[in-house]
Order: sequence, then C-alpha cells, then structure tokens
Amino acid sequence: MPESFDVIVIGAGPGGYVCAIRAAQLGMKVACVEKRATLGGTCLNVGCIPSKALLQSSENFEEAKHKFAEHGVLLEGVKLDLARMQARKGEVVSANVKGVEFLFRKNKVTWLKGAGRIVSPGKVEVAGETYEAKHIVIATGSESTPLRGVEVDETQIVTSTGALELEKVPGHLVVIGGGVIGLELGSVWRRLGAEVTVIEFLDRLVPGMDNEVAKQLERTLAKQGLKFRLKSKVTGATKGADGVTLTVEPAAGGAAEQIKADVVLLAIGRRPHTEGLGLAEVGVELDERGRVRTDAHFATNVPGIYAIGDVIAGAMLAHKAEDEGVALAEILAGQAGHVNYAAIPGVIYTWPEVASVGATEEELKAAGIAYKAGKFPFTANGRARAMGDVEGFVKILADAKTDRVLGAHMLGPDVGTLIAEISLAIEFGASAEDVARTCHAHPTLNEVVKEAALAVEGRALHI
Ligand SMILES: Cc1cc2nc3c(=O)[nH]c(=O)nc-3n(C[C@H](O)[C@H](O)[C@H](O)COP(=O)(O)OP(=O)(O)OC[C@H]3O[C@@H](n4cnc5c(N)ncnc54)[C@H](O)[C@@H]3O)c2cc1C
Repeated sequence: MPESFDVIVIGAGPGGYVCAIRAAQLGMKVACVEKRATLGGTCLNVGCIPSKALLQSSENFEEAKHKFAEHGVLLEGVKLDLARMQARKGEVVSANVKGVEFLFRKNKVTWLKGAGRIVSPGKVEVAGETYEAKHIVIATGSESTPLRGVEVDETQIVTSTGALELEKVPGHLVVIGGGVIGLELGSVWRRLGAEVTVIEFLDRLVPGMDNEVAKQLERTLAKQGLKFRLKSKVTGATKGADGVTLTVEPAAGGAAEQIKADVVLLAIGRRPHTEGLGLAEVGVELDERGRVRTDAHFATNVPGIYAIGDVIAGAMLAHKAEDEGVALAEILAGQAGHVNYAAIPGVIYTWPEVASVGATEEELKAAGIAYKAGKFPFTANGRARAMGDVEGFVKILADAKTDRVLGAHMLGPDVGTLIAEISLAIEFGASAEDVARTCHAHPTLNEVVKEAALAVEGRALHI
C-alpha cells in the first residue's frame, strides 16, 4: 500500500514549505517534495537571502570606503576579501535552510526527497515511489527567463544564480533588464568595484512601480555610478576568451552597436517552473503565460490539485507565496483562508531602498479614482539627518472622498521596513488621518510616514 497523506506539497520554497507547516499545524498529515539538496526554494538558496547577504556586505564595504569619514571615523587601507564575503553569504544561507529542516521536524512534515510528478489526481511519484494524497499542492516556483541569442553558462553569461557566486569582481558587468533583480545585483557589484551598465528595453526602470519613484531611483543609482541604456534591446552575445560582445539595438529599431562586457547578467524576468510535473497528462490547465491557472481559492481545474506562489499569476514575491500557502492550508482545513492582494508590499533592496504597496498614481488615474497625495522628504527628518541618509521621500495616496489609504510609494533609508505600517493601514481600511494621528516615536524614520499622512490634508508640521 502506498503511504498516504492529507496533503502533498510539491516544492519547498516559501510558498510550499509555509503551506506544509500551516497544514501540519492544523492537524493534517503532510509531506513536502523537494528535489534540491536543501529546503527553502529559490528564496533561501539562490534568491532573497543570498542577495540580501551580499547587499549588506557590499553596503558595509561602500560605507567603510566612502561614508565613515563624514562621521569622523577614519579608516585606512579598506580592502575587499571577496572569498570571505561569499563564504559569509554561504553561512547565512546554510543557517536559513537548516532552519526550515528544523521546522519540518518540529511540525512532523515529511520531506520526500527528489523530483515530484503527479501521476493522477491523488497520486504523486517521487524517486520511483508512489504516494497518495487527498490534496496536492503545486508550489514549484519559477526560473530565470531565457533570451534568444544570449546563452547562459553561469560563468561569463550568468543568471542571478551565477551573479551571486562570482569569485572575482568583473571589470565591466552588463545587466540585461532594469528590474528589481538586475538593479539589486548590479548595485552589489558596482559597490565592489565593477563598472555596471544596465540595458533596458523600456523607457523606464522597474515597470509597474510608481513613475515618480522609478525616475528618482534612476537618478539616484546613476549618481552612484550605474550607467543606463534605456529603450535598447540586446539581440546577440558572442563569447570570447576576453569577455562577451553584446549586440545592442534601439528598441524601436535602428543601427546596432556592440558593447563589451566581462560578465553579462541576464535578468529580464522569471517564468513559472512546471516542467516534468506531469501537468499536461493530468489535464491541469496553464494560462497564456505558462502559469498554472487557479481560481480565487487556489484550485486548478482538476479536483484535488491546487497551486500557489510564483507558479501562478501575481507578483513573484516570497511573502505573496507564503501568504498564499497559509491561506490555502486554511481553506483545506475548512477555514476561510484569504489573501488581500491590495496590501502586498514590494521592496527593492538598493540603498536607498524603494518600497511600494497598493495602487500607484498611474493606476488610480487609469481607474478614474479621485485621490489626494501627501508627500514628505527625508531631508526634513531629524533621524535621517543624524544617519546621513536624507535622500528620498514617502508618498501616501488616499481616496479624495473617504480619506482611505489606497497606496504608498517610498524611496529612502530602510523604507522596506517603513512600508509595513502602510500595509497594515490598508489591511485595516485605515484613513490617512488615522496614520497621521497615531503617535510615532521621535526621532525615527517612521515620522516621515506620519508627516506624509499629514501632508495628505496639507498639514505637514516639519516642512
Ligand atoms: C536573486 C533573487 C532575489 C530575490 N529577492 C527577493 C526578495 O528580496 N523578496 C521577495 O519577496 N522575493 C524575492 N525573490 C523572489 C522569490 O525568491 C520568489 O518569489 C519565491 O522564492 C517564490 O516562492 P515559491 O515557493 O513560489 O517558489 P520557489 O522559491 O522557486 O521554490 C520552488 C521549489 O520547488 C522545487 N521544485 C520545482 N519543481 C519540483 C518538482 N517537480 N519536484 C520537487 N521539487 C520541485 C524547486 O527546486 C524549488 O526549491 C528573489 C528572487 C531572486 C531570483
């Protein structure tokens, strides 16, 4: 008799492992299939965590070289030990992935090691064994999107995975794609000494983010030394012993030119990972972009098969995957699991950081919703001055009639943390006045959020 579970989750990324833990908490017998040697998925192994480790280390290096002197801290002979930096990143990843193994043991989630394939509704095959489950959850995540003519070898032409592993600082790093991953990893290598050029097809960076914030981000990163080639497309890459030659054309067509790079980072986006899962054989429908099609309760068209995270529609973010994992486990337990997609923050971990939640001004205009905007700069905040980090602003958008908070867009020090307050405000249906009347500790960066909320009614105090 095959071993039988209430739930088998395929994929142990933040969507899958969190879904497995929550289902186990709710009393279900749960297994999670993972083919990687460690748990935690893209996020813990080759995504969020290693990139944030390198962003932190490279920022420390940059501060030691360029910012400490302003504080009267004089250092001489600051040097980079890239091998140590990479080893530390490995230690951070290792501690995190082991943490998930511990959580599986604690919650009695069985890790089925190997690639999972759905053989029929209720049956999953892993490493030659068949297991039964009342519910199957697809949480197989995503992978880097390829580009024709640009062949990845993870040494000269790399995806984010290779860009996190470089053993030498490249002389010239060309990043294809001005999205979040390209800008974060471009920042890492620029801080460590590389010349970095970002080539982007569109006329702006980070599509989907608030325009004003995107423009300010471009100016800020350009000041730091990143070079941008917007409205340009890469049509070919030739590898040689001394680097890669890229063919670049204007996006609208025109004369091609060649750009030489030591390393090329291909970061044009990510696509859902569904290969080898047996979805076509079982009849699970995909949408026009190859994502598993689900209803509002994460159910696919095949009864008993569900999907969450990067493999379905929506933002490709770890916390979105996690929240879907929790909601689905609760739905399977007969509870009312739910994800509020209007309150999912997005953060870019450059320095200064960028953070956003809810509607952008462009979206509100397109939807014909009347809104008021309140904006406050970090230059007028005492704590930001004390830190020496005064670049950027917080902008809060509220409904013109009801004052309900509809969105917030920020660029500045640690705004990835500040944004949580506005996610909570949106979740609670708070008004801008609610945020403005809440006492904020002084002196904190959070006071910029309060002042932006006051500015919605034109009554900011410190400007
Ligand atoms: C460089 C980088 C930086 C990022 N930074 C951030 C960030 O700062 N914040 C953020 O929110 N998001 C970030 N992301 C995105 C984030 O990593 C993803 O949104 C998140 O990991 C999606 O979670 P998931 O559980 O859906 O899938 P994944 O994390 O991709 O996990 C899927 C797992 O399924 C496994 N799998 C696939 N098929 C099978 C199979 N057939 N059998 C068994 N196992 C299988 C895979 O091996 C993988 O481990 C980053 C991504 C990258 C690449």
